[in-house]
Amino acid sequence: MFDGLKDKLGSFRKDVEEEVEEKEADAADEAAADAEAAEADASEDTEEPSTPAAAPDRESADDEDEDADDSGPGRIRQAAAFATGRVIIEEDDLAQPLWSLEMALLESDVEMSVAEEILDSVREALIGESRKQVDTTAELVEDALHDALVDVISVGQFDFEARIAEADKPVTVVFTGVNGVGKTTSIAKMSEWLGDRDYSSVLANGDTYRAGANEQIQKHAENVGRKLISHEQGGDPAAVIYDGVEYAEANDIDVVLGDTAGRLHTNNDLMTQLEKIHRVVDPEMTLFVDEAVAGQDAVERAREFNKAAEIDGTVLTKADADSSGGAAISIAHVTGKPVLFLGTGQGYDDIQAFDPEELVGQLLAEEE
Ligand code: GDP
Repeated sequence: MFDGLKDKLGSFRKDVEEEVEEKEADAADEAAADAEAAEADASEDTEEPSTPAAAPDRESADDEDEDADDSGPGRIRQAAAFATGRVIIEEDDLAQPLWSLEMALLESDVEMSVAEEILDSVREALIGESRKQVDTTAELVEDALHDALVDVISVGQFDFEARIAEADKPVTVVFTGVNGVGKTTSIAKMSEWLGDRDYSSVLANGDTYRAGANEQIQKHAENVGRKLISHEQGGDPAAVIYDGVEYAEANDIDVVLGDTAGRLHTNNDLMTQLEKIHRVVDPEMTLFVDEAVAGQDAVERAREFNKAAEIDGTVLTKADADSSGGAAISIAHVTGKPVLFLGTGQGYDDIQAFDPEELVGQLLAEEE
């Protein structure tokens, strides 16, 4: 899962380490040259000291242009850092690694604004932190990447299970998203996931738009041993989900999982459909389902769906088949709504609650 991205993040760490090593080597050379010069000075006969009038001029020149002058305070700071085995990372040192990181993120289908946000916080963290001269470059880079990634990935996170636990029963959760991305499979998986936590559920097929939709979800319902409520094709989706709620009430079932048609003729139709479902059954949450492997397309669709009918979160399927990780990194930031679950395979138990810290930990874990 997300191996390509993991490699690219590892390359950034190496790039910065290389820059810092180079700088260390330069500092070592300079320190050696200084020592030589100092020795030479000491062995020379004492010459006329500079006139008292000349000294202040010399100092003010130091202040104005410390980098150009080998004896300036910047130089002293670097030398001190070198003496303690540490090197200060400056903007220039990061230019190349950050450029490579930006390319890597964009190649990984990370949305442009999200990539920029990551770069900004990494840059800020590295330059700011480096002044404190922390222990190793690797730690510094890892912390910076960790915080930047967690910040963008965890936008809007909430505890889905707690929300189910606290809501009045039956709780209705509606799923939306285009066909073929794993929506019906995810509904069945969710039913299993809830079952593992002692919540009973019923499936309701609000996708009355598409021929064959009933049969498709019926198969999943049978496979996981759940009841499916469905109407004829062309029926009213809100009415099907309403029947699901009635069934749940009558049978003491905790959760109604309602499918809806993924794509209608226009965004307006989609909005009207979801609005009606909201009026009739007042779902606790509407979850958008898309596939991680679709990368930028999934991010675009999430943005579009969230605009048409506000979503509460995303289920990102086929994460097991996705190397880039771009959708997983970008969707929460772009929609302002969290990724709540990852689909990790074709089995009904291949679903995980999304944990930003855990994901970032995996992305930054060093290869054994
Ligand atoms: P829908 O049309 O959106 O309802 O899509 P389906 O639920 O029928 O799934 C389409 C295909 O994606 C099926 O072959 C599923 O087994 C597969 N699929 C769904 N979720 C995942 C997942 O998390 N990982 C993988 N590898 N395949 C998945």
